[in-house]
Amino acid sequence: MRHIAIIGSGPAGYYSAEAAQKKYGDDVTVDIIDRLPVPFGLIRTGVAPDHQSIKAVSRRYEKTALGDNVHFIGNVTVGDDVSIEELQGFYDAVILATGAPNDRPLEIEGSDLPGVIGSAAFVGWYNGHPDFKDLDPPLDGKSVAVIGNGNVALDVARILAKTASEFAGSDIVGHALDQLKQSNVEKITLLGRRGPHQIAMTPKELGELGHLERARPVIDTLDFPDEGADAMLEPGMRKSVTHLRSFFARAGELREKPVKIDFDFFAMPVAIEGGDKVEKLIIEKTELDADLRSQGTGERYELDCSMVISCIGYRTPPIEGVPYEHGRGRFANVDGRILPGLYCVGWARRGPSGTIGTNKPDGFAIIEAVAEDIGAGNNKEGRKGLDRLFERRGVEAVTFRDWKKIEEAEVANAREGAPREKFTDIADMIAARKS
Ligand code: NAP
Repeated sequence: MRHIAIIGSGPAGYYSAEAAQKKYGDDVTVDIIDRLPVPFGLIRTGVAPDHQSIKAVSRRYEKTALGDNVHFIGNVTVGDDVSIEELQGFYDAVILATGAPNDRPLEIEGSDLPGVIGSAAFVGWYNGHPDFKDLDPPLDGKSVAVIGNGNVALDVARILAKTASEFAGSDIVGHALDQLKQSNVEKITLLGRRGPHQIAMTPKELGELGHLERARPVIDTLDFPDEGADAMLEPGMRKSVTHLRSFFARAGELREKPVKIDFDFFAMPVAIEGGDKVEKLIIEKTELDADLRSQGTGERYELDCSMVISCIGYRTPPIEGVPYEHGRGRFANVDGRILPGLYCVGWARRGPSGTIGTNKPDGFAIIEAVAEDIGAGNNKEGRKGLDRLFERRGVEAVTFRDWKKIEEAEVANAREGAPREKFTDIADMIAARKS
């Protein structure tokens, strides 16, 4: 029998578990450990609440989770409740599927001012992550700057722009919906340090901006190369750029919508200014060098704003004793192998890129690597040893059955038309599993 521990219950974790089930059938046990008492990682707390069809992939993970040899162990923090070394003592393979939940720091002057928020915090706030439930973002001002030209920046801009009725059927948490209803935001500026041909926004997500109830995307065509140059783009990017151009073409039709989502290209934030909170962003105009990198031109201008949300990528938090690549913000690894018996997968392996589906081949590949290394297993104890340690330390782990009770309570608490009202407090989650 082989025993595998996976740390992290997001897509990378569950696709790896599914791969182990397929590879070994009954000849494996897979324990999926998570810091939160609730599973599915970014599917629950990252994917936008108005993208329910993407969130539906959790049904596939549930199928894996309900297999006899896969167990969810929630409410357990690796590093506090159990160390990596201890896990390695119990399991043939320990796979880190911890994602990249920390914001890449915005290293400009003034980024510590109140009102400067990282996307992990802002997304966590509207998605009910317990760490960010008290964020209380300043929505009283008229103008917000969103830094970055990726899909997270798009999510953030769209959530800021939507009306309450556009959240029907979503699972945005009540506290965020209430605060957004009171929002005064009228202008959301999306800042890209490069141009329209260098965006990291995918077409479907970008297209949504053209169909919002009260908001309109605003484009300056002077930022664009000649239309003929679009033919050189790969098809996905070409579609995205076509959406951008169509926003300009439809400007007259969209004119009446009061909230502006302004695309500011070739715009590099260089400082944030304000007294006791954000008041303005200082931006430097850029141009591209021969390698398509952005270079400041020296020309600066200001954007008045009362909140800055930086959506410039994420990092995997290091774990003591685990080799780490600081530059790239992920575990040091070769094809997912970190040290003998210790692996990483998903964003913890390759950094925060790709779609949820990218984690599937990743999960299957890591199990192939594990299989090559561990053969028939090394007579380790697996869960038995872990349970003994938990008992000694008084660790209160949450099972998948417990999660189903928590989920039942969340569904019962849902406002009308919503799939669930998430608990945002760990103590409430734990209490719900006992009810
Ligand atoms: P991303 O796609 O890597 O985009 C990051 C953006 O930040 C880029 O435009 C980048 O510009 C910019 N940036 C980086 N450092 C900067 C700096 N110092 N100053 C100004 N701009 C800076 O990351 P993401 O948006 O966080 O998304 C992470 C992953 O999740 C992506 O694979 C994304 O597609 C995925 N995701 C998908 C969905 C969806 O499919 N619905 C939703 C959310 C996220 P440069 O290009 O110039 O570096």
